[in-house]
Amino acid sequence: MVNCIVLNEELPGLPEGVIEGARMLAEEKKMDGWIFTLDYPSYIPFMTYANNRQGREKLAKAFGSRGMKNDKYDNQDIVLKIVSLRHKRAQLLGYQSHAHYVLEERMAEKPEKVMSFLNNLLTKAKPAAIKDFNRVQELAKEDGIEDMQKWDGAYYSEKLKKAVFDLEDEQLKPYFQLENVIQGVFDIAEKLYDLHFEEITEIDKYHTDVKTYKVTDGKGEFVALFYADFFPRKGKRNGAWMTSYKGQWKKDGVNSRPHISIVCNFTKPTSTKPSLLTFNEVTTLFHEFGHALHGMLANTTYPNLSGTNVYWDFVELPSQVLENWCYEKEALNLFAKHYQNGEIIPMDLVQKIKDSANFLEGMTTLRQLSFGLLDMAYHSKDPDAIKSVKVFEKDAFGETQLYPDVEENCMSTAFSHIFQGGYSSGYYSYKWAEVLDADAFEAFKEKGIFNKEVAAKFKNNILSQGGTQKPMELYKKFRGKEPSVDALLKRAGLLE
Ligand SMILES: [Zn+2]
Repeated sequence: MVNCIVLNEELPGLPEGVIEGARMLAEEKKMDGWIFTLDYPSYIPFMTYANNRQGREKLAKAFGSRGMKNDKYDNQDIVLKIVSLRHKRAQLLGYQSHAHYVLEERMAEKPEKVMSFLNNLLTKAKPAAIKDFNRVQELAKEDGIEDMQKWDGAYYSEKLKKAVFDLEDEQLKPYFQLENVIQGVFDIAEKLYDLHFEEITEIDKYHTDVKTYKVTDGKGEFVALFYADFFPRKGKRNGAWMTSYKGQWKKDGVNSRPHISIVCNFTKPTSTKPSLLTFNEVTTLFHEFGHALHGMLANTTYPNLSGTNVYWDFVELPSQVLENWCYEKEALNLFAKHYQNGEIIPMDLVQKIKDSANFLEGMTTLRQLSFGLLDMAYHSKDPDAIKSVKVFEKDAFGETQLYPDVEENCMSTAFSHIFQGGYSSGYYSYKWAEVLDADAFEAFKEKGIFNKEVAAKFKNNILSQGGTQKPMELYKKFRGKEPSVDALLKRAGLLE
């Protein structure tokens, strides 16, 4: 069987719900024992909680060798072909490289600017990342592990987090029942933007798991249709994303409203438990919903400039800014209620969520920067010189790697963001958008997170404007000034 491991022994360390999920998967396949796959809801908990180091190694190596097994699914040649064709196209169009071609229509404008942005952050984050790594390594040493490997990282980070904060995902999950979180995000949209969500059943959908909503504004006018598809199923892609089935446009005096969807892969309810989200899944839902707001509140003439049709390094602002509400007591009060007794999440847990949000932020930042730098390495030079994907990747990662390299593993062959999705020469935009979202959220914090005036400015200058003006111009109209990196560095605890 491809991409899964079957365990017929005890599963020490794993939370009950995870074991139950693995058992259900085995039952579906009419097999004994427990099955773990490379789908995130299965893979991530295993890597985070399984005491069994060999099991973690086995699963991590399977995950890391996706598209790199020298079989008919191997992606190494495809990667080289993609970068080569991209380079050729750029040259035909008169650009120095694919990155030069792509970045011409980005907020960052030039590869040089992206590189200095990434390297500047690398300089600031690296000392913190090394400190983080050493802290995790210290803990691993207590178990006799002298050479911490990639498959130890999540496990000992979680242990360290528990030791420092006494806060585990499993402790928070009871407060984040999926239905409550959805209602919470709807309530927040209502408070900020006067949007009302009503579940409807009379329209067609592609699967019974999908939920459908009619969205109206304060005057009862139709704003959008909203689809939500939350659970993994066979054949469904990993991860979470927003998409639009129909855009928004104005024609002949009619404002034709959009059909927007978010797709996630959250843990399914079991026979004994509803779907309880990890805090990370909560922020994911807010993130995708932020994109959805960008789509739903679109109000422009041309469909190709509407909603999320903006420069790539601007598109993550509405999604990332909304994640900030997950850390605010005032917002959590609306939806973070215990699924059994309805108790609102206690203040000390909220404080811990806030404190732990920056936990090991140095390492996390370094990881994001490594992906951004790898992306730029592939796309800002003539790729002709690349002979081996693995060797090239290792070299491009250079300064950003803290763990020993795993020879049979490769990131590039499964780096779908840049080779399948639209993020080529654009991975840096996650960090770029963090600069924007941290700075933008400060505007809300200054006047209150549900302040209608600030929300209206955000809606009128950003959410509704799509790509009708240069992002920096839109941003300045909202904020009154250009964004500064200080808000991010401060929030991430990276300022000395
Ligand atoms: Zn996003």
